[in-house]
Amino acid sequence: MSLTEQLRPARSATSPAEQVALETAATTRLLEAEGILDYSGHVSTRIPGRDAFTIQIGSTSRAEVSLESMLVVDYDGKVLEGDGQPPSELPIHLEIFRARPDVQSVLHSHMELAIAFTMMEGVTLLPMRARASRWKSGIPVDPDPSHIKLPEQGRALAKTLGPHHAVLMRAHGLCLVAESVRALFIDAVHFKENAAAQMRVLQAGARPIPLTDAEIEKIERMEMRDWHIKKLWNYYVRKAIDEGILPPAWKDPLVPSKEMLKRDKFMK
Ligand SMILES: [Zn+2]
Repeated sequence: MSLTEQLRPARSATSPAEQVALETAATTRLLEAEGILDYSGHVSTRIPGRDAFTIQIGSTSRAEVSLESMLVVDYDGKVLEGDGQPPSELPIHLEIFRARPDVQSVLHSHMELAIAFTMMEGVTLLPMRARASRWKSGIPVDPDPSHIKLPEQGRALAKTLGPHHAVLMRAHGLCLVAESVRALFIDAVHFKENAAAQMRVLQAGARPIPLTDAEIEKIERMEMRDWHIKKLWNYYVRKAIDEGILPPAWKDPLVPSKEMLKRDKFMK
């Protein structure tokens, strides 16, 4: 054992439920720091082995979410654990989880850049940047501009999302879905980069040239999504701890170990 390893405190033995709640809390703070969440918006993640998911108390500041502000909620919207009320737009999460068994984590954000693409005639948000190949199947726009507080609104939104990984909400926001909360965070970073890239092209008065199918195919041949997620998660979590956005005590349960960051091959 190296000296560094001896000096490093043992990784705290958190339960899978606690780990998921901590990662969801951390993701919320990271997204707030990146300007993707602000005073509202929320992240939810399924709890492995339970018929329930975790989401923050609606009134807690997105910059201060911690384990204590995470609730355990069942798929009927009943709070099973925790002291507080979930966000009022809970039906977004309930109905997307119901409709998409493959989805582990859901983000709802009021990202200004993305909303702009629901308010321009003849303009569609397209995969421009290489990482936006994630949204190659399309980014549909849900027509309901109001807050999603009723089950039928949530169902309609989930229907618009369909099999895709993102949905815009007219004059309101967006939802992203992913296979883990870490993946969701990295997707959100790239979604914003992509929207900003297309907006810059439009502001330059030029015609956007999105990725072609052949380019997307080439990008995906080189893609190492799992590795990319680990690398970026490591970067953002470490930076956020250094900057005081995440508490130092979260370092052990959140920062990937050296072993986890080993990349054994360049391609699948
Ligand atoms: Zn909203």
